[in-house]
Amino acid sequence: METVKLTINGIPVEAPKGSTILEAARAANIEIPSLCYLKDVNCIGACRVCVVELKGRNGLVAACVYPVEEGMEVLTNTPKVRASRKTTIELILSNHNKKCLSCVRSNNCELQKLALAYGVDEDRFKGEKELTPLDTSSAYIIRDNNKCVLCRRCIAACKNQNISVIGSIRRGFATHIGCAFENGLGESPCVGCGQCIVACPCGALTEKSQTAEVWNAISNPDKKVVFFTAPSIRATLGEAFDMPIGTNAEGKMVAAIRRLGADSVFNMDFTADLTIMEEATELVERIKGAGPLPMFTSCCPGWVKYVEHYYPEMIPHLSTCKSPQQMFGAVLKSYYCQKNNIDPKDLFVVSVIPCTAKKFEVGREEQRTGDYDDVDIALTTRELARMIKEAAIQFTDLPDEKFDDPFETATGGGLIFGATGGVMEAALRTAAAMLDSTCELVDFKEVRGTAGIKEATYTIAGTEVRVAVASGLGNASELIEKVKSGEKDYHMIEVMACPGGCINGGGQPIQSDSVRNTVDLKAVRAKALYDADAKMTLRRSQESPVIKMVYDEYFEAPGKPLAHKYLHTTYVERGRF
Ligand code: SF4
Ligand code: SF4
Ligand code: SF4
Repeated sequence: METVKLTINGIPVEAPKGSTILEAARAANIEIPSLCYLKDVNCIGACRVCVVELKGRNGLVAACVYPVEEGMEVLTNTPKVRASRKTTIELILSNHNKKCLSCVRSNNCELQKLALAYGVDEDRFKGEKELTPLDTSSAYIIRDNNKCVLCRRCIAACKNQNISVIGSIRRGFATHIGCAFENGLGESPCVGCGQCIVACPCGALTEKSQTAEVWNAISNPDKKVVFFTAPSIRATLGEAFDMPIGTNAEGKMVAAIRRLGADSVFNMDFTADLTIMEEATELVERIKGAGPLPMFTSCCPGWVKYVEHYYPEMIPHLSTCKSPQQMFGAVLKSYYCQKNNIDPKDLFVVSVIPCTAKKFEVGREEQRTGDYDDVDIALTTRELARMIKEAAIQFTDLPDEKFDDPFETATGGGLIFGATGGVMEAALRTAAAMLDSTCELVDFKEVRGTAGIKEATYTIAGTEVRVAVASGLGNASELIEKVKSGEKDYHMIEVMACPGGCINGGGQPIQSDSVRNTVDLKAVRAKALYDADAKMTLRRSQESPVIKMVYDEYFEAPGKPLAHKYLHTTYVERGRF
């Protein structure tokens, strides 16, 4: 690799030719503040916060886009640089509503941090402000352009998803971010992945919070409130309480939810196992001739909505299995209510999920088991963290507690659902045993890792099984096009809308650019799940005693009529506009 030598603040640095000053500085552990830049997502040199001085040259340059040169002398902290950054932040704040006290991003806001660092505490540039109404049109996201800094990180994140339903509208002072024809996000073919939210440096994009409804249900004596938590939450919730990234906080998470007032706290890994039982059965049937192949996984609602909007011709290829969230809701409002003599309308079901798309999914009418939603509220990891803080629970001091019976036990197969490749590996563990009862295979390491597209071929009971895994919808569309053109031929494809899967979902704790620059969030969070899986004695979904119980007592066997009625679903063609 060709390199160039330069100095940054007098420190000798060697950097790859073609890299930017910002990349060279950060690789040498020299921080340059930035705002619109976001590693792997957005690099447009728009905000000018990352300006630096080059010795012997006039003016300032944006470090995020300016390439390193041999012998260059970079100065990142001169009076001229600091004054320029301060003015830039003052100008940004001159059209910002500054409602920091009640903003959900307060203390986790890159703009607030910059204002503090540069001593911006007064309105130097007073004048007209562009006041815009909130966009509350979708089931999952609120856009508050009164807080937007026009960094365009959300636009880049949406473009990376091969969707681009948001863009920059109008010019000059009237510039703002929104959808075509000034429509609300809810009227657009947005899939709800929330990748724009986790890219946003401030409080302009947030999930539609539903914590108030959950508090109301908890204080209602007529409601039995049950929570269940998705596999990835244990690997990310600790970040909201300053625990190291990648900490498995399962026990404290359960203890915290119990202290919020939940009547029961269940483990959604159970319905991840249930999904695998149904999905592996469906795959084997399709391979044996029922088709069509490839079969796409259907546990990610962002991906499902993407197919419904952008590739409706592929709907027959989607597994008919509901997602683990929706299966849990159906199990609770049918089997669990019947067994415990509860009117389903008195059971208030709260899922805790890494995801904003699941807030849309809970309202899908075709997934109901009665004249009510099976899951009442889907809370993101961030909303759960806020509830825990609101209740003044000292999360890190909590003891480790276990999930409640009867949905406590699950397998490693269910647990790894939270990472890209996890659903595929869990399905392969079970399908292999279905095709060959003597097969003991549990590790399918070729489908692990954070690569956007992974492929593998396995020979099981004499049958060659070709699989692919995509995370991030840009990668998914690349795979679909290859399948459609006949260039690629698989039996099963796992797709997760979020790059890296649910551990990097749109509802997860938001880490700033400076953290994302040095930590591979996808890999570190996923490791927490794979480490836990490796230590488990039950690693294949069919080995779970809870799975055995629900089939013996209710659903009979995977793919049977009652299982189909409650655990499978249909899809709708939605159109691109
Ligand atoms: S939720 Fe996803 S699809 Fe919708 S605007 Fe944000 S990034 Fe784009
Ligand atoms: S909504 Fe957030 S990410 Fe998008 S341009 Fe505004 S501040 Fe940037
Ligand atoms: S990958 Fe996970 S977090 Fe992202 S949209 Fe899909 S289910 Fe939700």
